[in-house]
Amino acid sequence: MKRIIIAIVFVLAIAAWFLLDLGQYLTLDMLKAQQRQLGAFYQAKPLAVIAVFFIGYVTLTALSVPGAAIMTLAAGALFGVVTGTVLVSFASSIGATLAFLASRYVLRDGVQARFGGRLKPVNEGIARDGAFYLFSLRLVPVFPFFAVNLLLGLTPIRTWTFYWVSQIGMLLGTVVYVNAGTQLARINSLGDVASPGLIGSFAALAALPWIPRWIMGMIRARRIYARWKHPRRFDRNMVVIGAGAAGLVSSLIAATVKARVTLVEANKMGGDCLNYGCVPSKALIKSARVAHAIRHADSYGLAQTTPQFHFRAVMARIHAVIAAIEPHDSVERYTGLGVHVLNGHARIIDPWTVEITRDDGNVEQLTTRAIVIAAGAEPAIPALPGLDGSGYLTSDTLWERFAQLDELPRRIAVLGGGPIGCELSQAFARLGAQVFQIELGPRIMPREDDDVSDLARAALTASGVTVLTDHEARRIEHRDGQYHIVLHHGGHDIELPYDALIVAVGRKPRLSGYGLEDIGIETDRTVVTDEYLATIYPNIFAAGDVAGPYQLTHVAAHQAWYASVNALFGQFRKFKADYRVIPWTTFIDPEVARVGLNEREARERGIAHEVTVYPMHELDRAIAESATQGFVKVLTPPGKDRILGVTIVGDHAGELLAEYVLAMKHGLGLNKILGTIHTYPTMAEANKFAAGEWKKKHAPQTLLRLVERYHTWRRG
Ligand SMILES: Cc1cc2nc3c(=O)[nH]c(=O)nc-3n(C[C@H](O)[C@H](O)[C@H](O)COP(=O)(O)OP(=O)(O)OC[C@H]3O[C@@H](n4cnc5c(N)ncnc54)[C@H](O)[C@@H]3O)c2cc1C
Repeated sequence: MKRIIIAIVFVLAIAAWFLLDLGQYLTLDMLKAQQRQLGAFYQAKPLAVIAVFFIGYVTLTALSVPGAAIMTLAAGALFGVVTGTVLVSFASSIGATLAFLASRYVLRDGVQARFGGRLKPVNEGIARDGAFYLFSLRLVPVFPFFAVNLLLGLTPIRTWTFYWVSQIGMLLGTVVYVNAGTQLARINSLGDVASPGLIGSFAALAALPWIPRWIMGMIRARRIYARWKHPRRFDRNMVVIGAGAAGLVSSLIAATVKARVTLVEANKMGGDCLNYGCVPSKALIKSARVAHAIRHADSYGLAQTTPQFHFRAVMARIHAVIAAIEPHDSVERYTGLGVHVLNGHARIIDPWTVEITRDDGNVEQLTTRAIVIAAGAEPAIPALPGLDGSGYLTSDTLWERFAQLDELPRRIAVLGGGPIGCELSQAFARLGAQVFQIELGPRIMPREDDDVSDLARAALTASGVTVLTDHEARRIEHRDGQYHIVLHHGGHDIELPYDALIVAVGRKPRLSGYGLEDIGIETDRTVVTDEYLATIYPNIFAAGDVAGPYQLTHVAAHQAWYASVNALFGQFRKFKADYRVIPWTTFIDPEVARVGLNEREARERGIAHEVTVYPMHELDRAIAESATQGFVKVLTPPGKDRILGVTIVGDHAGELLAEYVLAMKHGLGLNKILGTIHTYPTMAEANKFAAGEWKKKHAPQTLLRLVERYHTWRRG
């Protein structure tokens, strides 16, 4: 309410200004005509004139109405350079701060809630460099001051910073105008004060704060490189370490733009995704789904039966799938595309030299302008007494080890309630193993909303998984030829015998053994990079799992573009990695797919939001498929159709999500999705119906009541 009152007061005051045409009193001609009379007033009552002038100036700037330039000239004409400058400097800064506060109080929350996502880079820039930006804007008189006041009010800049930077930034311009006011007789228009030459000098001054930064950047780079001998020439434009998603895409981009690039891989081309991650796990999930469908054939009107299979054949299919995809990532393909591929272990010797120990033991060194680190991640292993030597498996070892078995291990313990743990648990349970999934926290898939975790738990349980949340793994014991995992739950220890233990508690970036520590590249949980994906060495970049924060193949490929383009062309233009719209899917059944915010994150970040849910059990195609579990959940700002985030749980959720990913990326709202024809009967219609649910909630009730009356009247 208070906000509305303030807004009304401002609007009325501004309207009065224009309606009463008060601006007519603030023209150069009027000032010149009244100069003598005003001077006489000032002689007679100096304090009163100063007070009226000061309050008038503050009011003018606070209301953002034109006339400040004339008032500033008047200050020079009436009070002289010193008093005039002091008066205008404080009055203009106070007035500007009042306008800034009014804009902040009345508009900021609304604007930030509506455009929060898109304003994020602006907010971050202001948090980092707000004073510099403001100083530059204040110095250049071509930026209307009232616009600067109102716009800065919408950002998170601190009021005190705004005040003092404004006062200092406007000082020079104030002196110029006040001084010009002392020569009022010689001025015929405002253009006489602000000549193009003067504006040019102001613009040069505005660039001044950035020059030390640029010089500091140069000095920092020089200092970082100081201890290394710069090669006189380079063998390569780029060397890429690791041939997973990030490394393959980086090297491909480099070769496409005709750079000389070497890609070094110590293990298998294709990295984790092809050999140990996405590909084998999805192939396994498919076999498990088919087994599940056979076991539940009665749901489709067929005779229920127990699936018959040889586990060795299931594993052989998984390896056949890997083999079928392998050529896409092979040495031959990449060589054909112009990438020089080396099998071997890469080590960074200095910022421009990579040493490669080839598989046959030969060692060679390559000098290079830029390096892209794409060394990926590996399974994190908890410090669990007894785990070493227990023959535990991880995603790195499981595919080879299980391929040797005729039978699936009878009892499998899966440590970890994240996406990988969930996918593997459900798949092995569906293939007939007795699976215990152990999670320390209170729920599985903890990044997702509670309702998603609940659905995932129910789905896994229905597949035969025993989900043990709030269970802490304490140690592994080996007795009488049998392994046990000892869990702690509710104050008691529980012993669980198992035949195979799969550790899936997360993945840690590979940070050692290839020179990062030797040349001082900063690491935290990942390689530390700036927003351009550069390390502390401006010519060494990182992409993919090793750089984080996401551990997904498509994000690795996305980052690879930024790393390689910045590495090759950064001296002309650099691009900040853009993480605004990142989708991901957990391939349990039903799938869980998400892009943008979920409810939990929106709450934690204090982002105002509305939730619209469309349940799959209402969708014709889902009913026909007996796949009615799940929902489409869309978050939007209150009253707006802009999409803040979407979670889909259901059959093919990963595919359905693509429509929302596109919409978010290109700023399309729910109205656009609702206005798009979707084929009947498809699962994708769920997206449209979710948009329809939102529309129903926002139907124009008053208009509908009027239309109802109109129809009643038409019926007579
Ligand atoms: C079981 C499982 C399932 C997954 N499912 C999905 C999924 O469905 N969707 C998804 O998006 N993501 C999934 N992921 C994650 C995905 O696999 C990774 O995000 C992706 O592989 C990261 O690619 P990268 O290029 O960063 O690293 P990697 O693929 O790990 O490649 C890094 C490569 O660098 C090599 N290397 C390391 N050090 C050196 C060195 N010094 N010299 C030479 N070579 C070196 C390594 O040998 C490796 O091949 C899954 C992961 C796992 C484990």
